[in-house]
Amino acid sequence: MEYDFGHEVNDMDFENRMIAPEYSPEDAEVENPLRPRFLSEYIGQEKVKENLSVFIEAAKHRRESLDHVLLYGPPGLGKTTLAGIIANELNVNLRITSGPAIEKPGDLAALLTNLNPGDVLFIDEVHRLSRSVEEILYPAMEDFALDIITGKGQMAASYHLPLPKFTLVGATTRAGQLSAPLRDRFGVILRLELYSPEELATIVRRSAKILGIAVESDGALEIASRCRGTPRIANRMLKRVRDFAQVMSNGVITYETAKTALDRLEIDALGLDANDRRMLNAMIKFYNGGPVGLDTLAAAIGEEAVTIEDVYEPYLMQIGFLSRTPRGRCVTRAAYLHLGLTPPGETTPQQQSLF
Ligand code: ADP
Repeated sequence: MEYDFGHEVNDMDFENRMIAPEYSPEDAEVENPLRPRFLSEYIGQEKVKENLSVFIEAAKHRRESLDHVLLYGPPGLGKTTLAGIIANELNVNLRITSGPAIEKPGDLAALLTNLNPGDVLFIDEVHRLSRSVEEILYPAMEDFALDIITGKGQMAASYHLPLPKFTLVGATTRAGQLSAPLRDRFGVILRLELYSPEELATIVRRSAKILGIAVESDGALEIASRCRGTPRIANRMLKRVRDFAQVMSNGVITYETAKTALDRLEIDALGLDANDRRMLNAMIKFYNGGPVGLDTLAAAIGEEAVTIEDVYEPYLMQIGFLSRTPRGRCVTRAAYLHLGLTPPGETTPQQQSLF
């Protein structure tokens, strides 16, 4: 199976950011051989796997196409991989495209009419489909038909073109931005969660084995604890740490090499990089730790609001460094302590000794 990514790559200042969870063309060389091909190889996301395996079995049993599936969650957690797995498990073809790549209704019509019965069509960033394209998609998803109108006025003619039954797998980082009519047409909606360090350590060991890299278990765990719950980042770190291991420890990734390599790359013990720290520090310095509104924060650190929401926040919230309130984002006590700062209203040991 060929993965042809029409993804837009973010050209923001963290283009070279090792822990940006978005796909970058550099990842292709490493990612393709590492993608699990079947559910049994897919690590973690137990609930998602359980549900999917039931639906896949049922569809196979009834010899029908699988209901349309919406996968949502932060980038790099395995949505594209799951789409491939669904196609493999059903033994059908996978076609990959993305919301921004489908510019005109005609582009989508061409894709749909070229599908074989049962095929899986994967649309990444499905929330970015244009209105006119979405309207073509509704009858295609619901009735497996294309309704096309050609010409204008008296010359107008409408065609109803039947399509093969297919499964649409849509992926999005932001389910909230999907229009309600589109969301309602997905029969199966699955949310992917950030992975635990133990699951990520298993992923790192699996990837190392495939790439022929020797890794000790605590070396794998060190990478796993610093990759912000994201397999894509774990795999990318593995590649970087391997370089250090070649120079430092005869090619074997030990705890020491992993730690030294990641320290040098300025990724701290919890996986925060300079950008995370910059954001938290800005919130503390300029807004007393919050609450601060998303747009205000974005302007203060010169980052896009969507990047903050998709890339920074999920992990900072998961580790309890950031909380969202109706009035805005707040830095938590744990984050102050991690940054070596005194939380508001608390005294430092030096201050205490003055009393
Ligand atoms: P997304 O589409 O959500 O951005 P991908 O499916 O492209 O993420 O996954 C990124 C990489 O992470 C893949 O190359 C794959 O090797 C790895 N990966 C993701 N999920 C898993 C998993 N559950 N088990 C093993 N590897 C995974």
